[in-house]
Amino acid sequence: MRQQLFFSPTLRDMPQGADIPSHQLMLRAGLIRQTASGIYSYLPLGRRVLNNVEQIIREEMDKAGAQEMLMPAIQPSELWEESGRLDDYGPELMRLNDRNEREFVLGPTHEEVITSLVRDELNSYKKLPMNLYQIQTKYRDERRPRFGVLRSREFIMKDAYSFDADEESLAESYDSMYQAYSNIFKRCGLDFRAVQADAGAIGGKGGTHEFMVLSDVGEDTIAYSDSSDYAANLEIAALPDHFTKAEAPEEKIETRPTPGVKTIEELAEYLPEKKERLLKSILFFIDEKPVLVVCRGDHELNEIKVGHAYDSPSVRLAEEAEIKELLGADPGFIGPVGVPEEVEVAADYAVKSVRSGICGANKNDTHLQNVHPHRDFNIKQYGDFRFVQEGDPAPDKKGTIHFAKGIEVGHVFKLGTKYSEALGASYLDENGRARPILMGCYGIGVSRTLAAIIEQHHDEDGLIWPAGVAPFDLHLLVLNSKQEDQYELGESLYKTLQEEGYNVLYDNRKERAGVKFKDADLFGLPVRIACGKKAADGIVEVKERRSGEMEEVHIRDLSTYLSSLLKQQKLRA
Ligand code: ATP
Ligand code: MG
Repeated sequence: MRQQLFFSPTLRDMPQGADIPSHQLMLRAGLIRQTASGIYSYLPLGRRVLNNVEQIIREEMDKAGAQEMLMPAIQPSELWEESGRLDDYGPELMRLNDRNEREFVLGPTHEEVITSLVRDELNSYKKLPMNLYQIQTKYRDERRPRFGVLRSREFIMKDAYSFDADEESLAESYDSMYQAYSNIFKRCGLDFRAVQADAGAIGGKGGTHEFMVLSDVGEDTIAYSDSSDYAANLEIAALPDHFTKAEAPEEKIETRPTPGVKTIEELAEYLPEKKERLLKSILFFIDEKPVLVVCRGDHELNEIKVGHAYDSPSVRLAEEAEIKELLGADPGFIGPVGVPEEVEVAADYAVKSVRSGICGANKNDTHLQNVHPHRDFNIKQYGDFRFVQEGDPAPDKKGTIHFAKGIEVGHVFKLGTKYSEALGASYLDENGRARPILMGCYGIGVSRTLAAIIEQHHDEDGLIWPAGVAPFDLHLLVLNSKQEDQYELGESLYKTLQEEGYNVLYDNRKERAGVKFKDADLFGLPVRIACGKKAADGIVEVKERRSGEMEEVHIRDLSTYLSSLLKQQKLRA
């Protein structure tokens, strides 16, 4: 491609409103332009990288036995009514009507469409397993679109759906997608982790992983062990039960006036007392039964874990009026001592370590001290109810937990029978019995992956593409196009390098050399070849973008030199 004619409008200055490197660089190097909030056009340079990422995805998905197809972005609302998600999905779902007032949605995902497609076709065990995928545009009216294409309202996703007859076969489909994803992100040059994630109300145990690209701009927090391969999303990262029960103290329980002291922070300061001796109590309704969950004051309760421990999708925080009615006090003054019989008390493992604790007295402006678990209140069950903190032990008891920020680029998920049951997709087994198909779904944010690659591969001068996804392999520059020998050498190399199979961006514009070098650094193609003063001697200057290493190479040796350079780069990616 001749750069003269290439549509890649660059920006010299830092674009306004772009807060992270990938967004800034995509605008500066002319990969994208915003069309509306969270909605982008991809210019040729951006499209070329997307194509490369998509190509890698296609190769790995096909290798894993999946078949590509394409579904419509516009989906009839009735399908979403059938699955029960029309209301559940909330305002992220974009809706529209046709001229006959028939209702449609712009697909944020395709479980409904694919399940309705296969329900009449995959009706026998002989046709299973099956894995179908597409690369397609998705729509989500995100509350806060931001960071450019990292969280946009229209974005490109690869979504795959697997269909299996039994759990064992589903596990195989899941593992093969997990492996394909690992290959894909590796080939994209990404430093990533596959982390255990929250399966929500529908997923089976161990049935979902998120693929996280390590990056400070990530919105997710990963908890990982420093001495094993344990890694999980902070939301669900587990804790071991490593506490032994403390001996009861001599002192009996006492009341302590604490006027207006409502929060743990205020209480710790007022008493004063270390937070680990304070007991935090939170009233939940689980399947509409009141459960008071207690944890230590230096810990944070985790509602998702409470839901998991009770194996219930119906967990909600009690409202203030309900707390007052059941326990007789405002939220800041409730505690586990002397609760009515109908209120079950559960405690986080760490509560075992509290010897002479302090908790709300179920009376406003009052706390109790010298409180001891079991002596002064019953605990129906201990459990893992709190968020992990840095420095906690890993759940496999190997090593210590640390935190890292991650960008979720992919998600693999065992769906089980949620959609096949809702939409009536069943097959006949060997005995002629109808059974719901077991499903899995597997998403990759293709456009988000593009941004994630840039987050991990840039410097202050611009982009640094990993060889596997670079929009062109080579950037060929003619430093002074008025010099005939330079011009001629450029033209001939442009021709021969393409003949050798390289994708070449060729810059012989009538610009100063400095401008061309700056653009080359900004575009970040793996190798830059400059035809300059030594052109007459057949010598060019070859620079590797990533290392900055430069070498003068005679054109006779160029072919060998380049192929070994690019091979090394591909191996490194
Ligand atoms: P997030 O928690 O970031 O909103 P999600 O859990 O809603 O993501 P999925 O429904 O699992 O995402 O979608 C599959 C993949 O699509 C994600 O792993 C992510 O890479 C990508 N993705 C999701 N939402 C967006 C978005 N608004 N913009 C760009 N990519 C997205
Ligand atoms: Mg989302």
